[in-house]
Amino acid sequence: MERLQKVIAAAGVASRRKAETLISDGRVTVNGETVTEMGVKVSDRDQIEVNGVPLEQEKKRYFLFYKPRQVISAASDDKKRKTVVDFFPEVNERIYPIGRLDYNTSGLIILTNDGELANLLTHPRYQIEKSYIAKVTGIPTSEAQKTLRTGVRLEKRRTAAAKIKLLSSDKVHRTAQISVTIHEGMNHEVRDMLTAVGYPVEKLRRERYAFLTADGLVSGDSRPLQAQEVAALK
Ligand code: URA
Repeated sequence: MERLQKVIAAAGVASRRKAETLISDGRVTVNGETVTEMGVKVSDRDQIEVNGVPLEQEKKRYFLFYKPRQVISAASDDKKRKTVVDFFPEVNERIYPIGRLDYNTSGLIILTNDGELANLLTHPRYQIEKSYIAKVTGIPTSEAQKTLRTGVRLEKRRTAAAKIKLLSSDKVHRTAQISVTIHEGMNHEVRDMLTAVGYPVEKLRRERYAFLTADGLVSGDSRPLQAQEVAALK
């Protein structure tokens, strides 16, 4: 469900401000009834008319994208860096990423224009599980792994318990690959956790988001989500 004025604006009929004026002037109907108060929520099944003209609601689009490094996970960037949306020139709907990956983190991210799904998946209550593989400097000791598993004290708060698995270590170069699975969404969480226990991250990629894996996708690739995948996320 989304706010009526937002849906009208997203359909390209009017700006959000103008849509509010249209609503308060009694020019908008939802399922045949005039709506004049703000904040009414509608779904894509509701029939909306503006000035008696049926609104063509934007089609909902869903993509799973394998973000390369050095790409911004936002719809636009004031420094004009490449964004995840730039990889979808053929998509006319206004899609945007759900959540964030750091500029230098690669891996899975969903893009959509479904605000309801975006709100759901980013709400702390939902606790979506995300798995990352980090290449770190140094080889995490079992003590450090235990600390990561139980929760790490960061500057502002403590992280929740994480699933940790040491995947490989390179004793010559003093590096390791470690899998970290978390269900929170704090900014830079994985990098900060690993740095806090003494193992700075050299490379980070997200290889799983909920039940979605990178199978069949390489960096820069995307695929549409299937209807049943979208339903399962909701
Ligand atoms: N944790 C991080 O530190 N960076 C990301 O991009 C995602 C999770």
